[in-house]
Amino acid sequence: MRFLSFLLLAGLLCTCAPSANEQNDGPPPRPNILFIMSDDHAQRAISAYTDELIQTPNLDRIANEGMLFNNSFVTNSICAPSRAAILSGKYSHLNGKIDNLSPFNPDQWTFPEELQKAGYRTALIGKHHLQAQLRGIDEFRGLIGQGSYYSPVFVHNGDTLDAETGYTSTVITDYVLEELQRADTSDQPFCLLYWHKAPHRNWMPDTVDLPGLLDKRYPIPANLRDEYEGRPAAAYADMRIADMFTSHDLKVTGDYQNPDPGTGGATFIKNPRWNMMDNFHRQLDRLTPAQRAAWEPFLQRVGEEWLEVKGTERELEWRYQRYMQDYLASVSSVDRNVGRVLDYLDESGLAENTIVIYTSDQGFYLGEHGWYDKRFMYEESHRTPLMIRYPAAVAAGSSTDALTLNIDLGSTLLDFAGVTPPEDVQGRSLRPILEGNTPEDWREAIYYRYYQNPNSFHRVARHEGVREDRYKLIEYTEEGFEGYELYDLETDPHEMDNRIDDPELEEVQARLMNRMVELKQEMKVPD
Ligand code: CA
Repeated sequence: MRFLSFLLLAGLLCTCAPSANEQNDGPPPRPNILFIMSDDHAQRAISAYTDELIQTPNLDRIANEGMLFNNSFVTNSICAPSRAAILSGKYSHLNGKIDNLSPFNPDQWTFPEELQKAGYRTALIGKHHLQAQLRGIDEFRGLIGQGSYYSPVFVHNGDTLDAETGYTSTVITDYVLEELQRADTSDQPFCLLYWHKAPHRNWMPDTVDLPGLLDKRYPIPANLRDEYEGRPAAAYADMRIADMFTSHDLKVTGDYQNPDPGTGGATFIKNPRWNMMDNFHRQLDRLTPAQRAAWEPFLQRVGEEWLEVKGTERELEWRYQRYMQDYLASVSSVDRNVGRVLDYLDESGLAENTIVIYTSDQGFYLGEHGWYDKRFMYEESHRTPLMIRYPAAVAAGSSTDALTLNIDLGSTLLDFAGVTPPEDVQGRSLRPILEGNTPEDWREAIYYRYYQNPNSFHRVARHEGVREDRYKLIEYTEEGFEGYELYDLETDPHEMDNRIDDPELEEVQARLMNRMVELKQEMKVPD
């Protein structure tokens, strides 16, 4: 009887208040939004872009059933500043979060809060890394800081929870599925920020990815042994695979190597308590006995391999393969879990009216220039993956070469939700591009700026630059590194040949110098 009256009541409600997902003659229903972001995910590690490294069938679904952005870039290639740029729709100099050390001002405008005001239920689940209580979020389950791969600890709406016993990508996804189930029973549209920790350093694979992992081999980039000729800032940077921590990064335990010989990008960290081997062992202490049993044979073989290769000419290639094995296994955990969520959207009928975005806070080096990490305006970290699916408006299997920026995402989502962002938001809606009508006046060049003090992690000199579809100009303003770099990306896609002051590119150079001045004015850069 109770069920019958529920049905009657539901029928009654439907006749007078159409549900958000129902088509009728009135304004179209507002789309739900599932904004998936991973951390440090290079385009080259998604098979929708290239399958030279990994198969990511679930992530590829988003591109195959929607649009793949071939030229998607960030405005400042480092974690928290990139998240601030996405949330605020503004460059770092205007949102204030210029580097990982500066605070994020939570009182500023963000697109999720605007959606909340427009009637959306908003949720943020996973890693946000902004060390501030974000406004405009109804349901918050966030990792503390970087979070842990195993036994992660979450803060739920202000309360710190007990550590979960699982693997971070899976636990985050379990929470996301709970939130989606709640959304499925409500007529309120949702904006769910589903933000993964993986594949951020230190790339600890899930136990299911450990069997066979050490037998995998990946193609070696042609510039793994880059000598940085004509690029002094690149030569100075501390982000070479050759200097990675053998413990934390490559998983050699104290039974085989102690202390850790790597700099790991921390040349300037003089704290005597800084001991990466202890740090790595503390992470292993987070494993349950069953997880530890799965890790034990893996750790033993890694240690034995290390003793064989260390100090030999094979060491760098071994380090590269070891890094890629763990990085790509972390990507697989994201792919698998995104698949669970896409399946749920299908089964629940939410897929048709849900915009699904997949992106990363920036790209990453996978051995190019001998590096891991990000920060530089070179392609691998300037780019970020972007795929958007929305069956109601976006043709399946479409793609675009338009130059797009991470600050465009908020404006795009607001556009589909029928909300106009404030005038000072710098991002531009991608909606016309998604609908197959790239505007005539779409941007032909993009501005970039990296701010973090070079005497901190990874020693990357501050720089700014401009990129067109073919050419890129970078200016270093740091004392000791002052100067320019100019690249022809068509003939030199790996940016090995700095062509600054090359007479052949005289016109190009002058044009890019001018463009930089114009773009800085347009973007209201103070200097
Ligand atoms: Ca990141």
